[in-house]
Amino acid sequence: MLAVTYPELNQPVMGQQPEQAPPAFHLLAKPTGAACNLDCAYCFFLEKEVFYPGSKFRMSELVLEQYIRQLIESHQTKSVNIAWQGGEPTLMGLGFYRRTIDLVEKYRRPGMTFLHTMQTNGTLLDDEWGEFFAQHNFLIGISIDGPQPLHDIYRVDKGGGPTFDKVMRGLRVLQKHGVDFNVLTTVNRVNADFPLEVYRFLRDEAGATWMQFIPVVERINADGLTLYQQGTSVSERSVLPQQFGRFLCTIFDEWVRHDAGTIFVQTFEATLRNWLGLGASGMCVFNETCGAGLAIEHNGDLYSCDHFVEPDFLLGNIQKRHMIELVSSPAQIKFGQDKRDTLPEYCRECDVRFACHGECPKNRFILTPDGEPDLNYLCAGFKEFFHHVAFPMKIMAGLIRRGRDAKEVMPALERIFADVPRNDPCPCGSGRKYKQCHGRAPARPELMAMPESQARSKLARNGA
Ligand code: SF4
Ligand code: SF4
Repeated sequence: MLAVTYPELNQPVMGQQPEQAPPAFHLLAKPTGAACNLDCAYCFFLEKEVFYPGSKFRMSELVLEQYIRQLIESHQTKSVNIAWQGGEPTLMGLGFYRRTIDLVEKYRRPGMTFLHTMQTNGTLLDDEWGEFFAQHNFLIGISIDGPQPLHDIYRVDKGGGPTFDKVMRGLRVLQKHGVDFNVLTTVNRVNADFPLEVYRFLRDEAGATWMQFIPVVERINADGLTLYQQGTSVSERSVLPQQFGRFLCTIFDEWVRHDAGTIFVQTFEATLRNWLGLGASGMCVFNETCGAGLAIEHNGDLYSCDHFVEPDFLLGNIQKRHMIELVSSPAQIKFGQDKRDTLPEYCRECDVRFACHGECPKNRFILTPDGEPDLNYLCAGFKEFFHHVAFPMKIMAGLIRRGRDAKEVMPALERIFADVPRNDPCPCGSGRKYKQCHGRAPARPELMAMPESQARSKLARNGA
C-alpha cells in the first residue's frame, strides 16, 4: 500500500488512492444517527444511542460537506451512490437534502452520475418530499412488514400505536409523484408464517415491483440487550431458521410461476446471479467476501458495516482521516475477507456454498453438527431454500446462457409440473414426493385479511 497522507483534508485527492482502494463502495449514511420518530420493537439501531451520549444526532453542515466531497473523491468510477438511512433520515428535513444536491454539484467531476437513495419508514412524506424525490430521481426504500395486522405488530410509534396507515400514505405520495421505490420487509417470528399474505399484499396492494426480505435475528447479549453482535440466544421476535426457509420457498413458488420478469425479489435475483456464477450476487450476504458496504454516523465516524456499528468496528472519523484510507485500511480488508476465511468446515463442504457463502457473519453463532463454532443461525432455512430453488434456478440460468429470457421459466415449469400425481416423485429430482416438494399446497389465502386480534393472539402464543 502506498504511504498516503491527507494533510489538507480540503484538497482533492484524485489519483492518490491507496493501492488497495476499491474503485467503488457502498456507504450508508445515518444523518440522524439512531434517532427515529418510530419505536419498532426489533430495531437494532435505536439502542446505538448509548455510543453517542449527549449528542443531538444531527449531521452538521461541516460533516455533510466533508462526507459528500470525500465520497466523490474516493470513487474511481463515474457513478456514485449516495445512500441515506437511519434512524429516520427524513427527520433532517428537506433543506438538508437540498444542500446535499448543491454539494454534489460543487464537487462532481465531469461525466459523473449519482444515484440518490433513501431508506425511510415513510411516515413523514408529503407532496414536497415527493416533488423533491421525483426531481432528483431518488430511489426510495419503504419499510413495511406486510398487511396492516402484520405490520402493526412490531412497527409502532413512540406511544406504541400503529403506523401502517401513515406508511401507506407516504407510499401513495411516492406513487403520486412517480418516484421509484422498493419495499423492505423484515421477516420476524410472526409475519414469517404468512409468506403469501405478505408477498401478495406487497405486490397487489402496495404496488411494489422490487422487494427485499430481511430476516430479523436479534442476538441477546449477556446484559439482556441486543446492542452488540454477541451471544448465542435470540429474541422471541427473531425468525426461526426453518420458518425463514419456508417463507422464502413459499414466496419463490408463487413468484416463479406468476411473476418472474415483472416482480424483482432481491434474494431471488442474487440467487440467480450465483447460479450463473457471475461472481457478485448483488447482496453482500451472499457474496464470498464483503467489506464494501460501510456505514457512516452523523458525526463522521465510519464503521465496517451497518450491522457492526459498535466500537470494535469503528475504522475512524472522516474529519481526521480521509474516507478512502479508512475504506481501504487493513482492518476493513480483513473484515471483508473474514467472511470467507472463518467459514466452518461444514460450510466449506456444503453443496450450496456457492449460493449461500455462509450468509452474514453477524448471524454465525451456532455450532455445526460436529461441534465447530460459527455456523449461521439460519443455516437450516438457507439449505432448504437453496435446495428447493435449485431446479427452477437451473432452468433460468440455462435460458439466460442461451440468450433467452429467464421468465420463460414460467411456461416451462407449467409443462413440467402439469398433471404430476401428488404421490409421485417430484420432477425436480429432489427424491421427495411431489406433494411434499414443488407440489406443496400453497399457504392459506383466507388469512389475507387476518384481523389484528388474531395476529396479536398468535404473537402471544409465540411468547412475544
Ligand atoms: S457483515 Fe454482513 S451485512 Fe455487513 S457487509 Fe458483511 S455480509 Fe454484509
Ligand atoms: S447452507 Fe448452511 S452449511 Fe451451507 S453454506 Fe449456508 S450456512 Fe453454510
